[in-house]
Amino acid sequence: GETIGILGGGQLGRMIAMAAAQLGYRCHIYAPEADSIAAEVSAAFTCAAWDDGEAMAKFAADCAVVTYEFENVPVAPLAALGATPLLAGPLALETAQDRLNEKRFVTELGGTPAPFFPVDDAADLAAAMAEIGTPGILKTRRDGYDGKGQWRIMKPEDAEGLELPAQALIYEGFVTFFAEFSVILCRGADGDIRYFDSAENVHESGILALSTVPAPAAILEQVPAARALAAKVAEALGYVGVLTLEFFATANGPVFNEMAPRVHNSGHWTIEGAVTSQFENHVRAICGLPLGSTALAADAVEMRNLIGDEAHDWPTILADPANHLHLYGKGAARPGRKMGHVTRLSFGQD
Ligand code: ATP
Ligand code: MG
Ligand code: MG
Repeated sequence: GETIGILGGGQLGRMIAMAAAQLGYRCHIYAPEADSIAAEVSAAFTCAAWDDGEAMAKFAADCAVVTYEFENVPVAPLAALGATPLLAGPLALETAQDRLNEKRFVTELGGTPAPFFPVDDAADLAAAMAEIGTPGILKTRRDGYDGKGQWRIMKPEDAEGLELPAQALIYEGFVTFFAEFSVILCRGADGDIRYFDSAENVHESGILALSTVPAPAAILEQVPAARALAAKVAEALGYVGVLTLEFFATANGPVFNEMAPRVHNSGHWTIEGAVTSQFENHVRAICGLPLGSTALAADAVEMRNLIGDEAHDWPTILADPANHLHLYGKGAARPGRKMGHVTRLSFGQD
């Protein structure tokens, strides 16, 4: 079969590669780190810097299509991909890798993010806090994930001793939400859009801990508006593949948090819990194939992340026959590192 190129070598790439293999595709991983867990399940691996144009051109020559599992891939070097299509496109990457761009873009499409203010220095932060007030969160515009690069400013004094990193930042108002949820859609090459059920997502220390489907009724009421925004985003970006938007469910309706132009941790439950997983549908979309059903395959599904600083006892997890255990092969557990996840389907009274 043809070869799919994947930029990035983490667990999302690994799970895309596993879905691709099922459909008869080979995957070629491109990542700067030598210990790629995606390469372990793939046909080929190039370990080279993001800006190594020669390596990237050789990689692209091997691939019918290129995708990414990580939105912080630098955009400029992607010119070396030449004629090989990059899906979802570079516009989605550029928009999603800068929180300021992303919030402006979504606002223009009618979405509602938390109030936000760009911050490049201490004077900007003072102005941001004067306008938005506290509590708020200061975030790096680029490169953050799993709550990294964020500072919570609960009261004005919290900002006093703060040493600002030498990076573009954004200050956003702290949203009072009763829950968090995500919209995960897949848009096919023909513009066909399928939505997965929206999971309720619970974060601990800024890291996703638990996703549950179906979400409670109070969230489900907000899903249509959130989906409508996600569809506008996908259409405006000419998007092909899986796209994720994270929302806060508030008393005033859904507040946009952020988007990920890729498969998403809050969609891992779809591997067993949906008729077609987010990974398979992403592969189908970027390969120009018809999309599979996104319908729920159980009455309820729960996905729990296995985070590195907790004690995990695999035999006990597997002793429950309803549990599906996924381990990413990362080796050393570090605090906050996502080592795997457990998915549990339930039927009827379970
Ligand atoms: P991801 O791994 O999802 O990309 P990230 O590092 O980009 O994470 P965010 O999604 O910005 O982080 O924030 C992580 C979590 O912190 C959110 O899911 C939410 O629980 C909390 N949070 C972030 N921003 C706000 C806000 N403005 N108001 C209230 N809570 C927030
Ligand atoms: Mg993020
Ligand atoms: Mg997030």
